[in-house]
Amino acid sequence: MTKTFYTKSQEETILLGEKLGSLIKNPPFLILLEGDLGAGKTTFTKGIGLSLGIKRIINSPTFTLLKIYDDTLYHMDLYRLNNGLTDFDLEEYIDSKICVIEWPNYDLLPNEYLLIKITIENDLRKIEFRPIGDKYKKILEGIL
Ligand code: ADP
Ligand code: MG
Repeated sequence: MTKTFYTKSQEETILLGEKLGSLIKNPPFLILLEGDLGAGKTTFTKGIGLSLGIKRIINSPTFTLLKIYDDTLYHMDLYRLNNGLTDFDLEEYIDSKICVIEWPNYDLLPNEYLLIKITIENDLRKIEFRPIGDKYKKILEGIL
């Protein structure tokens, strides 16, 4: 099962992130974001944060690996991890929190999650939702 959306602007991508965020009731919840640099992964995460009531501005965690917002949203960017850094313990976050991971490294991750793939298509962003596991499939039924 895959659901596909197209957004025309940064604002629309934020709105889609908000929609998803509003469906996340109980952590743990794992969202993996795939897409090239500049595709809109961090932009989408901003929307999730908005719907979770996070006031701080969400920006890229590329250089920190992990940013924590209100002990609610754990936003990671594993780009550097994938390029050689390996001794980073993700499990404690993933097992209990709402985690959004840019540039996921599948070797380190559990086998249930919501995969979101963002592709640049001319002046649009194609945003595909692919839930892996029943819990994630159920959540996705709520999103139109
Ligand atoms: P990533 O985290 O994937 O590297 P960012 O979210 O940081 O990407 O950056 C996406 C860039 O693309 C921003 O500068 C944003 O303004 C721009 N942009 C243009 N159109 C869109 C769109 N439809 N959705 C998201 N971002 C868009
Ligand atoms: Mg980013």
